[in-house]
Amino acid sequence: MNLKPGTWNLKPLLEVRDLTVAFGGLKALDGFSMSVCAGEIHALIGPNGSGKSTFLNAVTGLVAGRGQIVFNGAPLLGLPPYRVFRAGIARSFQTPRLFPSLTVAENTLLGLHVECARKTARELEQAAEAQLARTGLAGRGALPVDRLTAAERRCLEIARAVAHSPLLLLLDEPAAGMSAAERQALAALLREIRASGTAILLIEHDLKMVADVADCVTALNFGKKIAEGAPAEVASHPAVVEAYLGKRQENGTQINADERR
Ligand code: ADP
Ligand code: MG
Repeated sequence: MNLKPGTWNLKPLLEVRDLTVAFGGLKALDGFSMSVCAGEIHALIGPNGSGKSTFLNAVTGLVAGRGQIVFNGAPLLGLPPYRVFRAGIARSFQTPRLFPSLTVAENTLLGLHVECARKTARELEQAAEAQLARTGLAGRGALPVDRLTAAERRCLEIARAVAHSPLLLLLDEPAAGMSAAERQALAALLREIRASGTAILLIEHDLKMVADVADCVTALNFGKKIAEGAPAEVASHPAVVEAYLGKRQENGTQINADERR
């Protein structure tokens, strides 16, 4: 078998089967199944409103669903968010959820709260500094959060999320609004996080970025899986092309979901 870096360990870490999440009469997820393997970056793509954020919310216990979710060998569906976190899943939000009245370092420390009993204050500060350095925010710890750019805030949310070395990191459109250079830095960070042993489920619209970092891609539309496989396969899959645009953009693989309407 020809394995790419990052796909060396193909044990399913997260297994979701037949997941349905309904809001009133609307099925945001409709019998959706997918797995994320240990050691991989797995991208989840789909047009706006296809159910991607709802999927992260169901996995992290923020919305109720029917079906089966198994994480690291144990049932996960129905657990409250703090138990999902303790099981080894961390996440970011589509709109970063930071504490604006706290500094950059203090926000990072929140990701280390479960280690408070085992570490001294100095050790915790050093651990937070290490996470900031890792995410390109070295030396920014004392700043208030509102002094960071939008891209830096997303990196700070990732620093907080990975501080406790989760088994799985869920990222909801972390590259939204980033420049090409910021996206490249983010891609490098995601690869480094994967190499450190944290698998990543990445919601991302930019198929260039997906092709750049993802080992595997799952495409959603109207709450159902429409394609899955290697990035190039999925990007050219007829159902995916149709879901986004009805046709490919002339300039290559990038599909802008906002143009779908
Ligand atoms: P995506 O992240 O792919 O853009 P979402 O998961 O946010 O899509 O939304 C999927 C569908 O579910 C949309 O039609 C959205 O309006 C609806 N939806 C999401 N969250 C809620 C909610 N809390 N209450 C009602 N409807 C919701
Ligand atoms: Mg979303």
